[in-house]
Amino acid sequence: MSYSFDFMYEKILNNDSKYNGKFFPCVKTTKIFCLPSCKAKIPLRENVEFVFTAEQALEKGYRPCKRCYPLNSPEFYPDWMEAIEEYLVENLNRKLSDLELSELVNLDISTIRRYFKKKYSKSIQEYHRFIRLNEAKKNLGEGVDIGKVASSVGYNSVKGFKLAFKKQFGEFTNEKN
Ligand SMILES: [Zn+2]
Repeated sequence: MSYSFDFMYEKILNNDSKYNGKFFPCVKTTKIFCLPSCKAKIPLRENVEFVFTAEQALEKGYRPCKRCYPLNSPEFYPDWMEAIEEYLVENLNRKLSDLELSELVNLDISTIRRYFKKKYSKSIQEYHRFIRLNEAKKNLGEGVDIGKVASSVGYNSVKGFKLAFKKQFGEFTNEKN
C-alpha cells in the first residue's frame, strides 16, 4: 500500500469515506487520529502524518478521535464483529470455544481471528480474558467475595484467577482477601 501524502491529504479534504480503514490521518498537534472521512476540522498539512493501521497510530501515541471513532468504524468492521463482541460480553462466566463462535456468525474461525487481531491486537481468547478480568476487577472493587468473582468470570480456582489477574494488571490487590 503506497499512497502519496498529497493523495491522502486530498482524500481527507474531501472526507472520502472510501478510504476509511486504508489509512489514518494523525494530527501531530492534538495527538488524535481519525478516519479519512472525519468531519472534524481539517488539520494543516504540516500537522498531519499518515499511518496505515490503527495499531501504528496507537503505537505512536495517538488517541482515537471521539468524533469519527477510528477503532469502530462500521466501514472498517463488518456487522458480525458486533455480534461476536456482544456475545463475549454476555458470556463472561466461561471460556468460549472456536467452534461456538464460528457457528454463531457462520464464518470460518480464521476470518474472525483476523479481524480481532486487527481491531484489538489480541486473539479472541486474549480479548475475552481481558474483558472478563476487567469485570472481575470491578466486582472485587465492589466487595464481592473472591471465590464468587473468580467463578463468575470462568475461573475454577482462586489461585488460577489471581495469577491471571496479576498478569493483566501487574499486581493483585484486594483488601478484603
Ligand atoms: Zn476524527
